[in-house]
Amino acid sequence: MVAAGSTLLAAARRQYLDWGAAAKVSQLDWANPALSLESAGPQPVLPPATELAARRSAFTTGTIDLLSVFAASQALSSETSIEGLRSRVVGILSAMTGATDVHLLLRGEKPHDWLVSTDDGDSVSLEEASARRILPPSVIWYAERTRTPVIVADATHDDRFNRDPYFADVNRCSLLAIPIMNRNEIRAMLLLENRMIREAFTADRLEGIILIAGQLAVSLDNARVYGSLERKVAERTEELAAANRRLEQLSVTDPLTGLANRRHLDEVLDIEWHRAQRHTTPLALAMIDIDRFKSYNDHFGHAAGDRCLQRVAACLAAGTRDTDLTARYGGEEFAVVMPGADTGDASRIAHRLRSAVAELTEPHPVTTNQVVTVSIGVASIAPTPTEEAKALVELADSALYRAKSGGRNQVEVAHPTLAPRHTDASPWSGV
Ligand code: GH3
Ligand code: MG
Ligand code: MG
Repeated sequence: MVAAGSTLLAAARRQYLDWGAAAKVSQLDWANPALSLESAGPQPVLPPATELAARRSAFTTGTIDLLSVFAASQALSSETSIEGLRSRVVGILSAMTGATDVHLLLRGEKPHDWLVSTDDGDSVSLEEASARRILPPSVIWYAERTRTPVIVADATHDDRFNRDPYFADVNRCSLLAIPIMNRNEIRAMLLLENRMIREAFTADRLEGIILIAGQLAVSLDNARVYGSLERKVAERTEELAAANRRLEQLSVTDPLTGLANRRHLDEVLDIEWHRAQRHTTPLALAMIDIDRFKSYNDHFGHAAGDRCLQRVAACLAAGTRDTDLTARYGGEEFAVVMPGADTGDASRIAHRLRSAVAELTEPHPVTTNQVVTVSIGVASIAPTPTEEAKALVELADSALYRAKSGGRNQVEVAHPTLAPRHTDASPWSGV
């Protein structure tokens, strides 16, 4: 048993030496004088991979300490995230000091708040960490008060800390708490613990750790700046995406009425036409035109005409189904695309829209009932593979022409077998 123990200790001593943990090696040598004698014996033949360690052994222990501090600082300075820094510093300090536990505490939102990382990557308050026996809060508070590193040879026998419930069932516990200062403020706190041996952390080893803590303070600041820059970039990206969405919305919206504009209507009509072709389902279109709107403008003025257009547009949008698209076709003309609607459905919707506009009872100087009315031409087609969407537009147009010539304020339903009217002139102008 004793032989196995010293073999293990000798192996540990070699590894500490490789890591440059000079103070730890001297401490082991002091506690086990036989070890250093054993180690002075013939050294094992080093394979090429351990060349670096061999090179290190050519330096004095002080140089080795500086080298490991330098390597640790370099490693820390390359980290840009707080979590990355935390895990790096925990790894480095555990290896350098033989600590059985290392914590990096960060400042919380409020003054005197601490955030402690848990093993599952979460962050908890110092109160909760203390309740969960993750670390002894009394040592943190003490280091926070004194603003200097605190070395505790054995907290279980130290009057300042041994009443902390954390040490209730602990036999021995060496501690080292280092406040990390930046611009005269405590920014973070390192807590190193060793439950295996007393006096694991000594003053002569402190200097190297304080140098690492200095680099840590700078790196933490950098990580915070980096983090806030990343947040800013993410915010700007989201703002840009929102602006693009608004722009996209604007490019498909008619500014006066807020309905879809002609461009969007053409796009949707094309998409729905091809969908209807693929699924052999019907597609309906209603063409809507305000009756005698020129007279309205002449009588009430253009601004009143604009307001009237807005009211009619809102009324049409409210009267169509969610799956329909209501658009401003141009001037005082509107269109409704109704996917899946057959002639009967489309005709019912068109009649409902005509009544709804008349029921607005917007005064009109010359129409029969002295209110604003609309004429509607409606058509529905289950498109064949060879037909084009313009066939539907022409049918609806043609029906609208008949609604106008039939006396206005009425709905005309296109009969697909009726050949569409072919003329370049506006279908209902001058009717
Ligand atoms: P009909 O019953 O045959 O459709 O008669 P109409 O007077 O409505 O038809 P016409 O095509 O002769 O006139 C359309 C009018 O719509 C002319 C124009 O002043 C008006 N108009 C078109 N766009 C706007 C607009 O954006 N604002 C206003 N206030 N008026 C508009
Ligand atoms: Mg018109
Ligand atoms: Mg008109």
